[in-house]
Amino acid sequence: MMTGAQLAAARETLGRTVREMAYDLAVTEDEIRAWEAAGGDLIPLRQARDVKLFLADNEWMEAAGVPECPWNTAWEKQPMPDRLSDQVEHIRRRDAHAETCGTCLAFRRRMEEMWPSLADPPPPPPAPPSRLAAAWKRLIGRGKS
Ligand SMILES: [Zn+2]
Repeated sequence: MMTGAQLAAARETLGRTVREMAYDLAVTEDEIRAWEAAGGDLIPLRQARDVKLFLADNEWMEAAGVPECPWNTAWEKQPMPDRLSDQVEHIRRRDAHAETCGTCLAFRRRMEEMWPSLADPPPPPPAPPSRLAAAWKRLIGRGKS
């Protein structure tokens, strides 16, 4: 259960604009405004759950003393591009940054301390050979051909 006032308060705590919150929750800006303006428990369950997860993450970051990287925060606010090749490039930019940024490296170390099991996710199962998989591998630069 989440009221409009709670949503507005959460948005304030998270430092997100209406537009950013709409993007995070995959809804329209009008929906965010309507929910925040209305009184009752009308935030849909799925969005209410997401907001609670964002708040929990935020609380954990603060409690763990994890510094926020302004570059990464700005990156997270950029919408994911529509085209697959642009998406790969978008993620690559973040990965390249994270390798060289002291703040991001510190964040990763902290994550590994807290949840070692998350640090090294198991490799994905081998994909069936297909033209799509081959094209994807070429795109991310790990293919043999
Ligand atoms: Zn960084």
